[in-house]
Amino acid sequence: MPIGGLQKTSLIDYPGKISSVIFIAGCNLKCPYCHNSILIKGGFIPYKKNTIINFLQERINFIEGVVISGGEPTLYKKLEELCLQIKDLGYPIKLDTNGTNPDKIENLLQKKLIDYIAMDIKTAPNLYSPTFQEKAEPEKIIESIKLIKTSRIPYEFRTTCSKKIITADIMEKIARLIAGARLYSLQLFNDKETLNPDFFKNIKKNYGKKDLLNFKAIAEKTVKKCIIR
Ligand code: SF4
Repeated sequence: MPIGGLQKTSLIDYPGKISSVIFIAGCNLKCPYCHNSILIKGGFIPYKKNTIINFLQERINFIEGVVISGGEPTLYKKLEELCLQIKDLGYPIKLDTNGTNPDKIENLLQKKLIDYIAMDIKTAPNLYSPTFQEKAEPEKIIESIKLIKTSRIPYEFRTTCSKKIITADIMEKIARLIAGARLYSLQLFNDKETLNPDFFKNIKKNYGKKDLLNFKAIAEKTVKKCIIR
C-alpha cells in the first residue's frame, strides 16, 4: 500500500480533533481538479508503514485522531491492517474516500475500524463517466451513500463546485440522493494546481462565493446541515 505523504499536524482535516493525515497514493478516478496529482501520477517519496506507526506512537500525547486520505485508500487490501495498527495505538480514524468501493467501506464499518467518514460526491452518479472515470459504476456510488447514511458514525458528504461539473440541476440531484444527511460540505474549485488544467481552459471565470450560496440553498432543502468550506 503506497504511502505518499504525511501531514504531521492538522487542525482542519478531522472535525474537532488535532490530527495527523496519512496520504495513500493512487486513485481510480481522474478528477480534473485533483490537487494531489503527485499522488496520482507518481513522483512522491514513499513512506514505510513502520515509520508512520512509530511516528504516531511518539505523538500519542499530542494527536487526537488520524485521517487516512489519498489518493483513494479503499483501493488497497492492506487498508484494514493499517487501520488495525492505528486503532491499537488508541487513535480514532477518519477515512476520506471517493465512495467507489462500497464493499470496503462496509467491511471497515462492520469491523468498527473507522470513526468518521468523509465521502466526496463528484457529480450526479450517472455523470461520473467519462469526466471522472472511463467506466464508472453509478450504483457503487449510490450504495456507498446508503451505507454511510445508515452507519452509526459521524460522516459528511463533500462536493467541489466547478463550472462544467456542477450546475443547479446537478446539485438538485445530489441533494435528493443524500436527503437527510447529517452534513454536506461544499467547496470552491481551486485552480492553483490541477490534474487536468486543459479541462478548465475555456472557463473565463469560475464559481464564486455567491454561486456556492445558491448551491447551499438547494442542498439545504434536503440535508440537515450544509456548510461552505
Ligand atoms: S480528487 Fe480524490 S478522487 Fe479525485 S483523482 Fe484526486 S485523489 Fe482521486
